[in-house]
Amino acid sequence: CGIVGYIGNAEAVPVLLNGLAKLEYRGYDSAGISVYHDGIYTIKAKGRLANLAEKIDKEDTLSSHMGIGHTRWATHGAPSDRNSHPHNSQSGKISVVHNGIIENYMEIKAFLQEKGYVFVSETDTEVVAQLFDYYYEGNPVETLSKVVRKVRGAYALAIMCIDHPDSLVAVRKDCPLLAGLSSDGNYVASDIPALLEYTRDYYLLDDNEIVFLTKEGVTLYDLDGNEIHKDVFRVTWDI
Ligand code: GLU
Repeated sequence: CGIVGYIGNAEAVPVLLNGLAKLEYRGYDSAGISVYHDGIYTIKAKGRLANLAEKIDKEDTLSSHMGIGHTRWATHGAPSDRNSHPHNSQSGKISVVHNGIIENYMEIKAFLQEKGYVFVSETDTEVVAQLFDYYYEGNPVETLSKVVRKVRGAYALAIMCIDHPDSLVAVRKDCPLLAGLSSDGNYVASDIPALLEYTRDYYLLDDNEIVFLTKEGVTLYDLDGNEIHKDVFRVTWDI
């Protein structure tokens, strides 16, 4: 399973598909992407990446400069188009990819259902999209830190918000995720091979560090909103 996110000058769809292909070695049963294209546009498919690519090819144009992509290894809910990621909030304003497991998803789901949220998948992940939507007051970094404080489990998450076509947010806890930096845009991915043809410069993320990406740069925050400064890790090897 794997995650790729991109925001920058290049076309997002090929970057996402290419990155996901490089993560195939991690195993998966379905795949999907969300891109910003006049709103959030999500395409997902059970099975091989080729199935997803075929669905994408049927679209007239999916020109976009930011998006998130996912390969899923199902833990909660059978492999299906509907359970594939990304998962969007009921409002359609938030889109989420997730690797890992949200342990307390049943409790969060019950809480949100009581508030009127309707769920469409059997995944644990969908609670993250809906909870983000529930907490959202305009600031994605603040919202994500609230989500992190509420959910338990292991996760790498990348999230886009319809209100913020110029940024992506991401975070990890006990699941791999790193940020890639380049003059052509910025990235998140589960592993370096997904991004090595685009950049050699990375922030290796620690647990609970919130990553805020724009096409100009990457900023890291702790859960209290303080900026974190860390050295750029330069990859010197090839694959
Ligand atoms: N637990 C999530 C699901 O079953 C994510 C699985 C994964 O890591 O791909 O959808």
